[in-house]
Amino acid sequence: SGATFDVVVIGAGAAGLMAAATAGARGRRVLVIDHAERPGKKILMSGGGRCNFTNLESGPEHFLSDNPDFCRSALARYTPWEFLALVEGHGIPWVEKAAGQLFCRDSSRDIVTLLERENHAAGTTLWLETRVESVEAMEGGYRLATSAGPVTCESLIVATGGRSAPKMGATGFGYALAEQFGLQVLPTRPALVPFTLDEGLRRQLSELAGVSIPVEVAAGEAAFHEPMLITHRGLSGPAMLQVSGFWEPGEALTIDLLPGEAALDLLREWREDHPTRPLDRLLATRFPRRFARGLAALHGWTGPLQGYSNADLERAAATLAGWRLVPAGTEGWRTAEVTLGGVDTRALSSRTFEVQGQPGLYFIGEVLDVTGQLGGHNFQWAWASGIAAGRHA
Ligand code: FAD
Repeated sequence: SGATFDVVVIGAGAAGLMAAATAGARGRRVLVIDHAERPGKKILMSGGGRCNFTNLESGPEHFLSDNPDFCRSALARYTPWEFLALVEGHGIPWVEKAAGQLFCRDSSRDIVTLLERENHAAGTTLWLETRVESVEAMEGGYRLATSAGPVTCESLIVATGGRSAPKMGATGFGYALAEQFGLQVLPTRPALVPFTLDEGLRRQLSELAGVSIPVEVAAGEAAFHEPMLITHRGLSGPAMLQVSGFWEPGEALTIDLLPGEAALDLLREWREDHPTRPLDRLLATRFPRRFARGLAALHGWTGPLQGYSNADLERAAATLAGWRLVPAGTEGWRTAEVTLGGVDTRALSSRTFEVQGQPGLYFIGEVLDVTGQLGGHNFQWAWASGIAAGRHA
């Protein structure tokens, strides 16, 4: 009894809609189920409303995973250029913001429309505001109990995304399903997320809120040379979002405020050339004035430079080149763009995303333990993994 499809996709997000259209275009009868009232909500809010839909440089080196080679095959079999060709085929205007980062010129809405049109052309069915209550394996496929009635299918693709931005419909459903079928779920953590600071530090830095400067920030083995933004809550901007995935709670961030410059040489030169000037005035030639003043106040850099001993200069240079700062934490799931960790990919075929030993069951997109860096890599992963499963399911 109930509805019968060849393929059921749970999750009408980036990966699920791509997989559905791909399977549908092969002639499979496909149903997509989502509990939200509209498809692609995260796409709509992505990239500040302009969806950074791919990155031309996307490759395995831009992803974090406990099984780092897993992503190679899918990324090689569906490239950013192929997605770009699809975007152009739909007549969607796009712009390259930073090197390789492609955004919609007008609105993220265009990407959702593209996916809806591809699904329409492929004849797929979409059930919105539908809950999946249970899933069980049966002879030759899967049986689902949903709030819209029972559904059976041959192939089941789980594309429920990660835990980030719970307001946009994220749930732990995909992880629970993975565990039900005996898969490992690696611990999840918010990533691409701003840092918070403890009360004292936040107050000290509050004067600097709104300042953005290029830095090199390091945590553990990772370092990023990108802009840092000081906010009323803590530290954000691409540099901080990027490094958040590598940071361990309690650890210090090391921030080089003069990346690519020899700080001590610069300070010595300033002392020689401008002995009567205070350091903050000279720092204002490198940084926004407000930041220069705040930084000097924070570190007690007062008085004319001629009063600084060599040791004083060395200390100041060490701070400029390696300001060490221990965040209180991160803003967490509310503002995180992505989820680190998730379904362990070791149990899946890297070519088809099918679970080994569980024919017809697939996991794709962010629910997997594959996390891209900032700049369009996460959507490229959603497209590439969606295509891979959609070609096989
Ligand atoms: P999702 O797109 O999250 O889709 C999952 C779908 O599953 C949702 O529709 C959800 O409603 C549904 N679902 C969940 N649980 C259930 C359930 N139990 N039953 C039924 N349906 C369920 N990445 C980029 O590459 N570029 C960007 O510019 C970018 N900007 C971002 C901005 C923000 C604010 C956020 C939060 C993320 C951003 N990302 C960006 C990350 C990107 O959005 C995700 O990596 C991507 O959407 C993951 O695709 P997915 O299909 O795996 O999951």
